[in-house]
Amino acid sequence: AAKGEKRGTCRSFESGFDVAAQEKIKLIFDLREAIQHNRLKVHYQPFVDLESGEVVGYEALARWRHDVRGEVSPDVFIPLAEEVGLIETVGKFVLETACREAMHWPTHIRLAVNVSPLQFRNGNILATVINVLSATGLAAERLELEITEAVLMEKGPRTSAIIRNMRSFGIGISLDDFGTGYSSLSYLLNYPFTKIKIDKSFILNLEHEMNSREVIRAVISLGRSLGLTVTAEGIEREGVCEYLRGEGCAQGQGYLFGKAEPADKLSFAAKRDAA
Ligand code: C2E
Ligand code: MG
Ligand code: MG
Ligand code: MG
Repeated sequence: AAKGEKRGTCRSFESGFDVAAQEKIKLIFDLREAIQHNRLKVHYQPFVDLESGEVVGYEALARWRHDVRGEVSPDVFIPLAEEVGLIETVGKFVLETACREAMHWPTHIRLAVNVSPLQFRNGNILATVINVLSATGLAAERLELEITEAVLMEKGPRTSAIIRNMRSFGIGISLDDFGTGYSSLSYLLNYPFTKIKIDKSFILNLEHEMNSREVIRAVISLGRSLGLTVTAEGIEREGVCEYLRGEGCAQGQGYLFGKAEPADKLSFAAKRDAA
């Protein structure tokens, strides 16, 4: 059935899996084509210092507008890219694009880039990052790489050596989506993180769920006592922002401050052009 390509053939008697699998194969094909034709884009979402309210950096987020389907969520196409061996290409494209564009920003504005656990597997992520920094001229101190716990699950000393090396160049390392995985304390102690990002699921629930509030409070105090910058993602409302500020959360990100936008739409881009 996987090879059946006759148009208009009714396949509803077959298992739903085949239909889903065919859809997926098509999407993979389209993703590969989009990459080849340079149709992936990078948008930037601000993160702010909660105390001053100032934008302190932008997170690069991959975007793919499909001809027929419209915007495909990175929660869909990033795992797909990981599954079929395209993630290194995508990851490098995002890193290069973002570092190049960040060179036009004021130098106190930082850049955060997500890195897939699979980019750590082949062992050349460090060289890739260093090469991109020197090719674009971006100072290592302005870059922070966001990794999830899945990176740390890749056992062995290599991952920790890579992360330590990145730190020694001055690159920041953020633990993304904190609270959704094992959130093991040993990770926080054994890897030289500079930032923890509390997952948006906790923040979005904050107003309704006492449990989320307790988790957030605990993570903020834990992060602070370890000397890490604690960030909350998914801040949509002023009340939530105030609560987090009051608890001592250093930074925040969310629709309250802005959604991800193309580089030419960022607030200082206009000022730069006008100047
Ligand atoms: P993430 O790294 O945790 O990024 C935060 C996600 O939360 C983004 O979704 C952002 O648009 C969304 N978000 C931010 N503020 C709010 C808010 O106030 N409310 C709500 N409801 N959502 C908010 P996005 O852009 O769809 O990205 C989803 C995930 O896809 C990212 O989660 C990241 O894990 C992955 N991703 C995106 N771009 C890349 C990339 O270049 N490389 C890799 N490896 N992963 C990427
Ligand atoms: Mg992230
Ligand atoms: Mg996150
Ligand atoms: Mg996420």
